[in-house]
Amino acid sequence: MKIALKKCSKCGESKPATPEYFHRNKSNNDGLRYDCKECSERYNQSEKGKERTRRYQQSDKGKESNIKYRQSDKRKKYQREYHKKYQQKKKQEGAK
Ligand SMILES: [Zn+2]
Repeated sequence: MKIALKKCSKCGESKPATPEYFHRNKSNNDGLRYDCKECSERYNQSEKGKERTRRYQQSDKGKESNIKYRQSDKRKKYQREYHKKYQQKKKQEGAK
């Protein structure tokens, strides 16, 4: 099977239209974003991207997804691990 190439809307490079090179976006026809992973990651790390994330987190939609995340198993697992590490650290410090 021949893999179709997709031109990134930001850097203009043609890359294979697979989730390996492009982040997923369900609302697009091919299920992938217009810009490649490299570009979207660069954007996320820029001040502009960080500002956008901040604004998203303050929006209703962002708050909603944050609540969902807090209630997710992934988060619970993370908290358990974190708590465990914290307790261990406390113990070690107390032993000094
Ligand atoms: Zn790109």
